[in-house]
Amino acid sequence: MSNERLLETFLDLVRIESPPGFEALAAAYCARELEAAGCRVWFDAAAELTGSDTGNLIAELPGTVPGVLALSAHLDVVEPCRNIRPVITDGVIHSAGPTILGADDRAGLAAAIETVRRVAEGGGSYPTIRTIFTIQEEVGLHGAKHLRPEDIACDLCLVLDAEGTPGGIVIGAPTHYTFAAEFYGRASHAGVAPELGISAITMAAEAIAAMQLGRLDARTTANVGSIKGGRATNVVTARCDITGECRSLDRDRVESVRLAMDSAMRASAERAGGTVEVLWHLEYEGFESEQDSREIRLVAEAIRDVGREPNTYRTGGGSDANVLAVMGVPTLALACGMTGVHGTNEQITVDDLEALARICEAVVVRMAEVGYE
Ligand SMILES: [Zn+2]
Repeated sequence: MSNERLLETFLDLVRIESPPGFEALAAAYCARELEAAGCRVWFDAAAELTGSDTGNLIAELPGTVPGVLALSAHLDVVEPCRNIRPVITDGVIHSAGPTILGADDRAGLAAAIETVRRVAEGGGSYPTIRTIFTIQEEVGLHGAKHLRPEDIACDLCLVLDAEGTPGGIVIGAPTHYTFAAEFYGRASHAGVAPELGISAITMAAEAIAAMQLGRLDARTTANVGSIKGGRATNVVTARCDITGECRSLDRDRVESVRLAMDSAMRASAERAGGTVEVLWHLEYEGFESEQDSREIRLVAEAIRDVGREPNTYRTGGGSDANVLAVMGVPTLALACGMTGVHGTNEQITVDDLEALARICEAVVVRMAEVGYE
């Protein structure tokens, strides 16, 4: 049965270690399976560009009708991911030990591979199917950022990498900035001569207190994620570092929040007579699709075809979909059934894994039927 084969593929992948930068074993497994299913398989040059032990893995099953569907997922998983032991309890797959499960994004990989197999075996007509399996997604979408235009050219790209019940379609994700700030004051003995010191901890604290953090509006968030500084109670601390971020679905809004956070840090350093160095990094650009675009209509119909209910939503998280959308690829991210991702409670049901593969298959069928290209 092909749903048993899908489950086996998923469990095989879960057992392969592949933290960011070390995706070669998982890539080799996927390459072998895709080749066996009739694909041409190749790797791009992202290994050298990112320092990973493999490049992004691209595979193509030539279609019998025009049109190209891309199915994308990522090869890396977050820590803790050593010796993952998957177990199934009442149809729910979870990890037995103190590790993640890795359904993020083994569900996407397994569903894409199984879709290719079923389509190749099915005997019906189908568009070309391209699989795009990326490296180092979890540490900044690095693999996706090095994808070559010729490898991602397609009429529709489904990024199989969102949390939640299959049927969910992510139609928007934010622009995301991170920062690292270093506050510099002046050290002095806290008991003997505090007036000669300038506390970097106070500068950082006042800067943070002046920032608007948390959920700023329905489309915008901001956070300070770490703070580090000082060694002893009797020293006015000369150095304090903080890191943080802001995100918004609205490009202008994220810029204004970023500026406000930046000014809060500079103003606080200046008031205290110290200095601050702030380094901002644009992690990825946001995207938003039209509610009634032809790609959403097609995918929503495919979801109904398999008896699930389509549900479009915007997310506060980023994925390779952000990078692909900015590159001009018509992209949607699909909910894959996984929940609790990046934690040891991560899980997915066997039913949802199967539903994801069936949705992908139904998209293939619909594309062939309507001549989508
Ligand atoms: Zn993921």
